Amino acid sequence: MKILVANPRGFCAGVNMAIECLDETIRMFGSNIYVYHEIVHNKYVVERFQKQGVTFVNSVSEVPSGSLLLYSAHGVSPEIREQSRQRKLQTIDATCPLVTKVHLEAIKYAREGYHIILIGHEGHDEVIGTMGEAPASITLIEEPEDIEKLSFPPDAKLAYLTQTTLSVEEAGRVISALKQRFPKIESPPKEDICYATTNRQDAVKQLAQRSDIVIVVGSQNSSNSRRLQEIGALLGKPSHLIDGAQELQREWFQNVSTVLITAGASAPEVVVQDCIGWLSTEFGATAEEVTTREEHVSFPLPRELRALQTAKA
Ligand code: SF4
Repeated sequence: MKILVANPRGFCAGVNMAIECLDETIRMFGSNIYVYHEIVHNKYVVERFQKQGVTFVNSVSEVPSGSLLLYSAHGVSPEIREQSRQRKLQTIDATCPLVTKVHLEAIKYAREGYHIILIGHEGHDEVIGTMGEAPASITLIEEPEDIEKLSFPPDAKLAYLTQTTLSVEEAGRVISALKQRFPKIESPPKEDICYATTNRQDAVKQLAQRSDIVIVVGSQNSSNSRRLQEIGALLGKPSHLIDGAQELQREWFQNVSTVLITAGASAPEVVVQDCIGWLSTEFGATAEEVTTREEHVSFPLPRELRALQTAKA
């Protein structure tokens, strides 16, 4: 059995920054720290921090007044920032800069009098945060069928934005349908689907053709991981999204000679290596790393944290 190990896979620059940010905050202040929502959408990562004593909350009201609260990589709405101010929390913002970019585009379009059509998944942390920037000026759609329900006239002053972790092809279909219905709709200055999402999807598209099965390491609530599994399935390959090697099942690999392994942008490399180890032990599989694109992106730690580091030095 051969394993094709997709590269790029796993942690993106935003996830690396958010995790490093939380690690550094623990190092500086101890683990009596609160994080608004999961720091990144990955069970393994969240459990690691929980074991260290970090508390993840779904509401600012759960955080004792005066405590330290970190915002996750997916970003938050201005309402959450205001609630934190009222509770006198010290906050560190680990939002990925590529999510912040979408927030800023939403603010700009709303100020210029556009109504924004946001393409994304209802209930996702990132979508909630972006919509919170201009709630009266944003309408969320998920698929081409939703466009029929829009009641704007064809010449309405509209702009569209997208969640950063959509399927490139599906988003493309929604955008074409939007442009057909609203020919004057304004496009974002630069693609909102981020480089990490695009590159991981491209790798699966290229390598799944050479494989009998696709294994995606990532959590069920990770949007970009789910898209990788969907792409594998659309290409006709049995595709499984797993949190760890313990979920691998021997029967998946009957009559399989080539396995493609990849990982969503929030999934740690150690879990990928566990899966490779399991396949080697169980089936004598050998791994070959296949690089479809080089990535050299990194983001600095949040400004507030750097200021605290300087003050402590
Ligand atoms: Fe940022 Fe993209 Fe990673 Fe999301 S997937 S954290 S937008 S780099």
